[in-house]
Amino acid sequence: MQSKNSYLDLPVLKEKEITLALKREDLLHPLISGNKYRKLKYNLQEAQNLHLRTLITFGGAYSNHIAALSYAGMEKGLATVGIIRGEELMDKWQDNPTLAMAHQNGMVLKFISRAAYRKKTDLDFLLTLEEEYGPFYLVPEGGTNSLAIKGCEEILTQADEDFDMVCTCVGTGGTMAGLINSSRPYQQVMGFAALKGEFLEEEITKMTTEKHWKLISDYHFNGYGKVTGELVHFINKFKRTTGIPLDPVYTGKMLYGLLDMIKNDNFAKGTKILAIHTGGLQGIAGMNLRLKKKKLPLLHI
Ligand SMILES: *Cc1c(COP(=O)(O)O)cnc(C)c1O
Repeated sequence: MQSKNSYLDLPVLKEKEITLALKREDLLHPLISGNKYRKLKYNLQEAQNLHLRTLITFGGAYSNHIAALSYAGMEKGLATVGIIRGEELMDKWQDNPTLAMAHQNGMVLKFISRAAYRKKTDLDFLLTLEEEYGPFYLVPEGGTNSLAIKGCEEILTQADEDFDMVCTCVGTGGTMAGLINSSRPYQQVMGFAALKGEFLEEEITKMTTEKHWKLISDYHFNGYGKVTGELVHFINKFKRTTGIPLDPVYTGKMLYGLLDMIKNDNFAKGTKILAIHTGGLQGIAGMNLRLKKKKLPLLHI
């Protein structure tokens, strides 16, 4: 499955003579949007090859991965279990749009403490899961493993060889690793970290042997899932001027950073940039609930 590229028409691009296109992975699927669809594709096939009928994975309360896996499981007729960080959610998950949707898709939600969550991949814990749910296929938190990277290698197409740079957002780095592997050596892959992670550089090095990439860590807005009024304003303005929605956790931060770098002359005139819209739009509703509580401006849907 291939997604289209939308060429942006913004004054700063004209002024700096930069071509910028967004690869609309957000349009791949209404709920398994963007990179989570890519990351799950070969994992679902593997579960089926192994004749495992239950998928188990881990995630936070607003996780795009949890949302995507619940939907994919429903589509394939597989049972799904989501191990969710935070016991306090146990009696109020109905108010959380991501978890309510996952439940509606048939996912069993199991809430564990933050301390237990840190030990979620210990053998002891996995054995208790097997006792409780039977044999299962384990999908890691965020969905990243070698099969996920293989899926993300399919994001770029031959027509994309014309771009000088490929940009993406980075959580675990699995998507970026796939893009690095499938891009051409003369292209540079630039990843925008969505979190404060000095470890990310090393993580990505473990997932690829290629060298034509760079990690940008200046636009995480104080950490994973953190937003500011300025970021919300940027995302709303971007939607108004281009018609394209961005999510506040990943793609909004990438586009903010990329346009800031363009404005500050980080790229030569004539540079052709392709930025991957990795999706994540299901998270907007949950973010708006948090923004409302803090009396901050809301994201326009
Ligand atoms: C999960 C996610 C990412 C991060 O992908 P990684 O492969 O973990 O780096 C980026 N964008 C969106 C919208 C996501 O949901």
